[in-house]
Amino acid sequence: MRVIAIDGPAGSGKSTIGRALAERLGLTYLDTGAMYRAVAFVALTGDIDVSNDDLVGTAARSMALSLDGGTVTVNGVDATQEIRGPQVSAAVSTVAALPAVREEMRVRQRSWAEAHGGGVIEGRDIGSVVFPDAVLKVYLTASEAERAARRAKQLGDSDTDAVAAAIAKRDAADSSRRDSPLVEPDGAVTVDSTGMGIDEVVDVIVGLLESR
Ligand code: C5P
Repeated sequence: MRVIAIDGPAGSGKSTIGRALAERLGLTYLDTGAMYRAVAFVALTGDIDVSNDDLVGTAARSMALSLDGGTVTVNGVDATQEIRGPQVSAAVSTVAALPAVREEMRVRQRSWAEAHGGGVIEGRDIGSVVFPDAVLKVYLTASEAERAARRAKQLGDSDTDAVAAAIAKRDAADSSRRDSPLVEPDGAVTVDSTGMGIDEVVDVIVGLLESR
């Protein structure tokens, strides 16, 4: 099983780079953030307290989730747009800190990798916890200003300061939780993508892989 793990803070370009890298290498790609977002969506739409480990954990275990072809289908509903919306973005770090949710997502991520013989997998705890034996671990980052600008552009939001504050809040929550916090994994190579284009970053990662 060949896993390439990409971790990093919000807005560092993990999804864009992960997709482009998977395409370049002919591998499959898994966006684990979309999985946590789907759980937050289920909790919010089911009126479940997003900080209740038992209730959200039960909802996560029974969740039917498909991420095929970029469409996110949750319990039979197309939630592709909603999982990127402001309500889910505000609640996702609370849901992602719940141990029962993380345990279920780890099981799903590992069985996905087994079924696909590995792939490019991105998130916050992929190289540190879920796949510590990944063939390559990348910690992808960029300056705070650039991450906020990229995310604001993606959301079509002109208030870059508000976007910067929201991602800083999410990063602080993701880095300080007890279960699988966002860290630079042991053995990871840090790639600072500030000022770099997509192809350039993919070239750097392919170079790292070739040098292994
Ligand atoms: O990558 P994205 O910004 O969509 O991730 C949304 C949230 O999901 C993160 O802020 C984090 O709370 C959670 N997450 C996580 N572990 C992962 C991937 C995402 O806790 N492996």
